[in-house]
Amino acid sequence: MNINNNTQTFDAIVVGGGISGLLTALILGKHGHQVILFEKEKEVGGNCRSYGVDGFTVDTGPHAITALKDGGPLTYIMDGYFDFVPTFKPYGDYYIRSVSGEITRCPTNVSDFLKFKFLPRKDRLILSSKIASVILKSSAGVDYSDVSIYDALPKTLSNKTYAMADTFSYFMSGRDMKETSVQRMLNGASFTTESGDTGEKFEKFMTGEIKSKTDVKSSSPNPKMAVSHEGGFSKQGYPLGGIGSIVDSILKSLPENVVIKTGCRVTDIITENGKVIGIECVRSDTPISPKSIYFSDFIVFTGFARNLKRMIKEELPESYIKTLDGIDHTISLTTWIGLDECVPEFDYMGSEVHFEKIPSWGGSTSNYDPSLAPPGQQLVCFGFAPVPRKRIRQNIKKSYDALFEMLPGIEKHVIMKHEQITVPEKAAITLNGTFADIKTPIQGLYMAGTDTDRRSMGITRASYSVINLIHELQKDGYFKHKNSFKGNNIKRNYLPLTNETN
Ligand SMILES: Cc1cc2nc3c(=O)[nH]c(=O)nc-3n(C[C@H](O)[C@H](O)[C@H](O)COP(=O)(O)OP(=O)(O)OC[C@H]3O[C@@H](n4cnc5c(N)ncnc54)[C@H](O)[C@@H]3O)c2cc1C
Repeated sequence: MNINNNTQTFDAIVVGGGISGLLTALILGKHGHQVILFEKEKEVGGNCRSYGVDGFTVDTGPHAITALKDGGPLTYIMDGYFDFVPTFKPYGDYYIRSVSGEITRCPTNVSDFLKFKFLPRKDRLILSSKIASVILKSSAGVDYSDVSIYDALPKTLSNKTYAMADTFSYFMSGRDMKETSVQRMLNGASFTTESGDTGEKFEKFMTGEIKSKTDVKSSSPNPKMAVSHEGGFSKQGYPLGGIGSIVDSILKSLPENVVIKTGCRVTDIITENGKVIGIECVRSDTPISPKSIYFSDFIVFTGFARNLKRMIKEELPESYIKTLDGIDHTISLTTWIGLDECVPEFDYMGSEVHFEKIPSWGGSTSNYDPSLAPPGQQLVCFGFAPVPRKRIRQNIKKSYDALFEMLPGIEKHVIMKHEQITVPEKAAITLNGTFADIKTPIQGLYMAGTDTDRRSMGITRASYSVINLIHELQKDGYFKHKNSFKGNNIKRNYLPLTNETN
């Protein structure tokens, strides 16, 4: 075997340059650790990237960033470690679009739900009393983690109502209502209740005092929030410049002691007597590349947890392999459409949900930031979940057909089409799916990323995982303050947001 022996030793090696890996490298780096991060793609960002297509700037899937007020996990990290912060625009409302093209605002409380003309009146009456009773019981401590949405719903509802329940289940868990728990819907729909951290101080994050629930199973949602959303989805935002601007802010904030190697795939995690000692990696851009070895006794892996099995030569405990094998993933299709003008169909701020033909959600990102499209033009995107791997081509065609049938006025304006096939949040939060632990059976090897945390959505979830990681590292003595940096401890209010960079 052709090996480049690299004798350089680092305090920490981070595998994966998605948001989780970058946030980890940023925090470790600011505290003086010599860090090297490996990313197999040409660019960092993973599922949190933006890139150009025919003059438009598309993101890796439609994104709404949650928990941007009152101490959500990303805001903790931005406050403590970012020298530059992205500017977020308030996300706006969610709408349901009917097959005939009309849009209706999604209800955010029970009284609005009763007036929600989209569903048959009988269903609204039955459902609202069911929702109220579930919320009441849940706030009294009843755990709905093992009850599926399907099992909880009365069996007398119309197909349209079941289709809506399926669609919201896809967006909350990546699976249909038979595989999505009521608890997930309660927590996911309220967006803030899972954090439980609201209002806590940054110092508590640094000292590990911050409330950190690794499993939402035991948490009961705040019933007030779940019923009313207090101000709709006011904690959600979309960053100017596209979601890649979050990654750009991290890159601009990284200290010099963090080295990033892109186009470098880590193939092996080297261990000795149950401890990590380094990694082997190859260049991703050439089929035959010599292996390079980098040494460290502390590694954070943020790729697919399941891949650890084949990267570690030492035998792993059977129960650990079973957990890794139990992680569910969902494949999602996103279609991006560039329009030659701003059309009245998308004349709103927020997102729309469709469920009568094909479950999908999306909207216009250039409504938040016109610079994502050429002057006067508009960029819209729709995510469809889930997609069977074998029939992706047919699904792409079916998805465009469904969109243009519902919105016949837009087809003539289409000047750009672009599709993406992605795994939205890594581990899908299903009834039977498992999650990996931050700690692995190998000493010095830790995980972060969306395969390791059940709370909230995507980027918020990734940020929770990094906070959890730091706490575990503190306990195990790997997180050291190697310099005088104690965190920026800035308290910004992210929404409504300013052009602040400091
Ligand atoms: C369609 C879609 C819609 C989404 N919608 C939302 C939303 O509305 N709101 C929200 O908050 N989030 C959303 N997300 C999810 C969010 O983007 C992800 O949860 C988040 O970006 C995951 O970050 P991560 O770092 O944990 O993982 P990833 O982004 O998967 O990063 C892992 C990185 O590790 C690299 N890597 C893996 N293995 C190796 C190796 N062996 N060597 C070197 N590098 C390696 C990968 O190339 C990748 O760059 C969405 C995602 C998609 C795709």
